Amino acid sequence: MIPNYNRTKIIATVGPSSNTYEILLELVKTGVNLFRFNFSHGTHDQHKLVFEHIHKINRVYKLNIGILADLQGPKIRIGMVKDNHIEIFQGDELTITSTEVISTEKQLYINYEQLPRDAQPGDKILLDDGKVELQVISSNGKDLTKVKVLQGGALSNKKGVNLPDTKLSIPSITEKDKRDLEFAMANGANWIAMSFVRSADDILELRELIGDNKKHRIIAKIEKPEALTCIDEIIAATDAIMIARGDLGVEVAMERMPIIQKDIVRRCVLASKPVVVATQIMESMITMNRPTRAEINDVANDMIDGADALMLSGETAAGAHPVKVVESMMRIMRYVEEQDMVYNRNLRPDKSSKTYISDSICHSAARMSETVDAKVIIGMTRSGYTAFMVSSFRPKAKIMIFTDNEDLLNILSISWGVHAFYYDKLVSTDQTVTDVIEILKTKSVIAKGDVVINTGTMPLHKQGRANFVKVTVVE
Ligand code: PEP
Repeated sequence: MIPNYNRTKIIATVGPSSNTYEILLELVKTGVNLFRFNFSHGTHDQHKLVFEHIHKINRVYKLNIGILADLQGPKIRIGMVKDNHIEIFQGDELTITSTEVISTEKQLYINYEQLPRDAQPGDKILLDDGKVELQVISSNGKDLTKVKVLQGGALSNKKGVNLPDTKLSIPSITEKDKRDLEFAMANGANWIAMSFVRSADDILELRELIGDNKKHRIIAKIEKPEALTCIDEIIAATDAIMIARGDLGVEVAMERMPIIQKDIVRRCVLASKPVVVATQIMESMITMNRPTRAEINDVANDMIDGADALMLSGETAAGAHPVKVVESMMRIMRYVEEQDMVYNRNLRPDKSSKTYISDSICHSAARMSETVDAKVIIGMTRSGYTAFMVSSFRPKAKIMIFTDNEDLLNILSISWGVHAFYYDKLVSTDQTVTDVIEILKTKSVIAKGDVVINTGTMPLHKQGRANFVKVTVVE
């Protein structure tokens, strides 16, 4: 099967609407590059079966579809509610306890033990995606003794809780996350997404659990206002970022969201770290068979912002038209990728970087691909560095990466414009350049007369960072 050579990648969340081999394969044929498993739902046995389907698709069709394991993190919720329905009204006063009880109009239970100590008078408590808004008036350290309802509404069992103003002392990685992480690593997940990241230390803690093997890379989900205050440190510590617009959109003022998204995307592209835009991408298609005008605009604007990948959640996990959603995304992506505005962001390598020389080689390859109208840039990498670096300059030429690191093949599925191939010969630079061009010819990626740019290391056996750029007209 010829993979879709879209530059902006598509991540689809797996769920009841998409967890069979047949639908997964159809989604891949239509344009999905990675599948996300949301560990807030499902059992390990259920996930294992679907992981195996994806491994099989990769084996049978010789593809590199990535697997992203999204850890739930310290998700705070209300517990069971009297008769599964209560209604509270603006101006009401109630108490909140962290001792498990059935919640009523007068007393709510929230499953976060430290809440009465962490929450300060004046802090907001948001329930059910912000539909209900409360404010802490007083606490005795054991319970929140007086909480005022600022925005009333109905509540049912286990609705989510957001605490945008409260500095949480809850650990970032729960015991459930540890079990899910172990499962994900044992079953071949390529990316591990960490929820509710608050600081770079959270990432270091997760990296410690993953170990130093680089088989599993980390995505920091940005969904807490606290993370925005140290975003550069988080970007430096992580391997990729997800702008988790669902929770972030609840925790920060809604009008801030578009600018926050643009700012984070820009910082990530500058730092050559992949950035994913997530949530409500095609929300209406959970039930409808075509997207709204606003959703079409959102997809295009996410691409113009410079996102590496867009992530579908309920649309493919639980929606009525999972394949149609991806078809619609691909139509938009193909059209937008015909426009010059998604390419060449005029970024320059950072002179103070330790890798400035090889960064400049990657930059030159990208710039030269414009001047000679190259069809592809071919890079060699073991760590992934060249792939992420060339990608960050967003060249119009497609980025074909050859690596002898099998683990990297699926990892690179997230990266803008990058397509990866296995290649492990170590004869000479000349031989490698000839070989990889030949491989791309047989795959019909390039043809006689096309201009290609190779970047890599000379001498080959030193396996260092990129230090040459070569232009070839394909014969
Ligand atoms: C989000 O909040 O946007 C998100 C992707 O996280 P989750 O779906 O895990 O709540």
